[in-house]
Amino acid sequence: MEKYAINEKGYYGRFGGAYVPEILQKNITELKENYLKIMNEPSFKAELEQLLHDYVGRPTPLYFAKRLSEKYGAKIYLKREDLCHTGAHKLNNALGQLLLAKKMGKTRIVAETGAGQHGVGTATVCALMNMKCVVYMGATDVKRQYLNVQRMRMLGAEVIPVTSGNGTLKDATNEAIRDWCCNPADTHYIIGSVVGPHPFPDMVARFQSVISEEIKKQLKAQEGRENPDYLIACVGGGSNAAGTFYHYIENEEVKLIAAEAAGEGLDDMTKSAATIHLGREGVLHGSRTLIMMDEDGQIAEAFSVSAGLDYPGVGPIHAFLAEKGRSKVYAITDDEALNAALDLTKTEGIIPAIESAHALAVLPKCKFKKDDVVVLTVSGRGDKDMNTYANYFHLGE
Ligand SMILES: *Cc1c(COP(=O)(O)O)cnc(C)c1O
Repeated sequence: MEKYAINEKGYYGRFGGAYVPEILQKNITELKENYLKIMNEPSFKAELEQLLHDYVGRPTPLYFAKRLSEKYGAKIYLKREDLCHTGAHKLNNALGQLLLAKKMGKTRIVAETGAGQHGVGTATVCALMNMKCVVYMGATDVKRQYLNVQRMRMLGAEVIPVTSGNGTLKDATNEAIRDWCCNPADTHYIIGSVVGPHPFPDMVARFQSVISEEIKKQLKAQEGRENPDYLIACVGGGSNAAGTFYHYIENEEVKLIAAEAAGEGLDDMTKSAATIHLGREGVLHGSRTLIMMDEDGQIAEAFSVSAGLDYPGVGPIHAFLAEKGRSKVYAITDDEALNAALDLTKTEGIIPAIESAHALAVLPKCKFKKDDVVVLTVSGRGDKDMNTYANYFHLGE
């Protein structure tokens, strides 16, 4: 009996579901009726598997981090999603959804992006498959992630800056959904995380589940056992964490740890993005989940140094796992994350994405036993964050 699985209506406990305007009902129903069927077709599986191997560069290494292990007193392995083509786990999902959209006869793709990694991933697979691509990105993020904007443009995507709200991920998501409502016949919306209306959270989790599928095999080969004692991952919407946890969720011997972004802390909601700690139940972007909002139900403008994590909602699966006590969630401040990024750089020679650094910042907070096996997912690489790091650590002109 699966205790933590999604039900046929798309709910994890109370969380999830599909709250969409009338005009999108047809698309959502079409997707719901087809996604599992298509994903299970041998020809689809073969094409996806081959591209994951030859194009994305999978399997990504499971790297035993010797110096980090000595420092924190456990056997720490890093799942190197930073080594995926385009620099993060995002491509696993973008590629899967694009192949699925093609099977459903769609010719145009829209996507939202925060830090730009999902936009780059989507623009990349659209270039690969010759599809028209429109990416909505908050105007604030366009400024702070300019390198990724230029990558998307070079890949042939149209990047549309969104000036409403804070000009961040929430606003970009609103616009992407609006676009989809206007173009339901020819367009597929590639959501970048385990958020949005059912079946998106489940579909994205399945496309990212390749991460835990590989961990099982690699850990067996390297450590003689499939199961670690701990899995650690950062949570924005929660897709790299969902992929890391996926094949272990029903196995309660494996402790699941999620790291969310607390910005400047937990005292002021306008200076935080720790949705699971601070959120209340509501509906955002088509899904019932935890949301950061004020007393009047106004959605808060989330804040974090990391553009990939400053989202006022969270995937329903993570709201559910946390409520059930299946996962333990840490709130990591900007300072803690930045210092953890430097820590990994100096001990292992790996500059992580600032998002992934939130997962690394959990290490000093855990009480490990010497023989504990810990697998931590490094969701992306830090190239895009070099300005932030250079300013914070005064790396010089
Ligand atoms: C987008 C992104 C995240 C956050 O998204 P999740 O869906 O929570 O995984 C984390 N790390 C990196 C490197 C990202 O690009």
